[in-house]
Amino acid sequence: MNAVTPNIAERIRALGARATPARVAVMRLLETAERALSHHDIELALQANGFDRVTLYRVLDWMVESGLAHRVADAQRVFRFSLAAPDAPAHDRHAHFRCEDCGKVFCLDDVPVTRPALPKGFSSSAVELSITGHCGHCGKHA
Ligand SMILES: [Zn+2]
Ligand SMILES: [Zn+2]
Repeated sequence: MNAVTPNIAERIRALGARATPARVAVMRLLETAERALSHHDIELALQANGFDRVTLYRVLDWMVESGLAHRVADAQRVFRFSLAAPDAPAHDRHAHFRCEDCGKVFCLDDVPVTRPALPKGFSSSAVELSITGHCGHCGKHA
């Protein structure tokens, strides 16, 4: 049994969910990753832990649904995952920044998203404001 990073397990339990070994392992991997990771990257990295592909796919879907992770398609239309900011579950309330180099998505908590007034009969299900560019880490090497 690996030592469980306490804050990751706590973050999962705070959602009323169980901190299963697969959930903790995927979150820890995303937390330490230099770039946003694809399903394939995550499978390879966690192969030795004995998690099968289906388990990892389920964990990733659950993380995106729970607001713990961001999922974006890269230029090759491959989904990539990165960890969301710890205290930002309502991702439709703030803007996001996507780095073109590492593919990570960052929550911009101080850029609130306002819902515009819509024409009569229209209803919105999601409002997203996304800024694209180079993050502080990748920009340093440019
Ligand atoms: Zn970056
Ligand atoms: Zn966010």
